[in-house]
Amino acid sequence: MIEFHKVYKNFGKLEVLKGIDLNIEKGQVVTLIGPSGSGKSTILRCMNLLERPTSGTVIIDGQDITKPKVDIQDVRKNIGMVFQHFNLFPHKTVMENMTYAPIKVNKLSKADAETKALELLKRVGLVEKTDVYPGKLSGGQKQRIAIARALAMEPQIMLFDEPTSALDPEMVKEVLKVIQDLSHTGITMVLVTHEMGFAREVSDRICFIDDGQILEDASPDEFFQHPKTERAQAFLEKVL
Ligand code: ADP
Ligand code: MG
Repeated sequence: MIEFHKVYKNFGKLEVLKGIDLNIEKGQVVTLIGPSGSGKSTILRCMNLLERPTSGTVIIDGQDITKPKVDIQDVRKNIGMVFQHFNLFPHKTVMENMTYAPIKVNKLSKADAETKALELLKRVGLVEKTDVYPGKLSGGQKQRIAIARALAMEPQIMLFDEPTSALDPEMVKEVLKVIQDLSHTGITMVLVTHEMGFAREVSDRICFIDDGQILEDASPDEFFQHPKTERAQAFLEKVL
């Protein structure tokens, strides 16, 4: 579903990704772990062309998205992304947030988009918030809406970049629960998180990123019990 071949990314003189090779199968849940500034967000952002690799190829569902003439909107339709900050439209109600892109981009009728939205709001436990504006929601609720909104586009891939890092501690669990439920649905997920216990539980694979490279790519048990590199050992000692 997602393939990276020798992906490099520079920002000016700064080399941020140094030859990333990655192959994520359909339905897999892969978590990127590593120190701040190691390139995790840049890897995610190369998956939906928020960043364009300096060299190398990224193939999504068989399509080389690094070719010059690729329709970026078309690629992104298939890939939901949830960030640390929720990015809801503040002047739209929850329902309007949920239905905006499905109507505009996927050409759903308003009625169909609303039916779908209600289903998803039920799934994230927020169906009673349909007519509320984001300003009236807690951080955890906003993030659950952001996830539901991304799912309304029926993406094949979901990317999560530190989805709980900006939340008060008591709201972290409700958001992780939604992501965990999602992990059982067969959708392909790539996640960046500092929640190590959660990463261990939810992931099929852990990729340890350091200084723009994948230093380890292993099952969660293998990675957390027997990290192979000194860098990963040192990192885990600090965070566990
Ligand atoms: P992580 O998500 O692992 O913390 P990032 O992928 O955000 O790391 O960043 C990796 C490196 O690239 C950092 O040194 C960061 O400052 C730099 N970087 C990220 N985005 C940009 C940008 N748009 N312009 C310049 N430097 C950037
Ligand atoms: Mg980041």
